[in-house]
Amino acid sequence: MIGIDLSTGMLIYLIIWLLTIAILWARELWRVKVTDWRISRSRLFRCDHCQYAFLTKENSNITRCPRCNSMCILRKNNSF
Ligand SMILES: [Zn+2]
Repeated sequence: MIGIDLSTGMLIYLIIWLLTIAILWARELWRVKVTDWRISRSRLFRCDHCQYAFLTKENSNITRCPRCNSMCILRKNNSF
């Protein structure tokens, strides 16, 4: 059996908690970076069927309208 004194045990306990907090903090920073919304003209879509304007996360040229579920194609010179 491994015998440790109280101060060593408390130090190990503290290190484990600090590592846990650091891991959770890094995970939160990564999650905020991944799910961050930035409004830009390239991500703004307008549905041709219902004229609903919405933002999309992906930087793609085609997406589905959240209102009518029809396919929307991004045009380069769309004016709002
Ligand atoms: Zn629509």
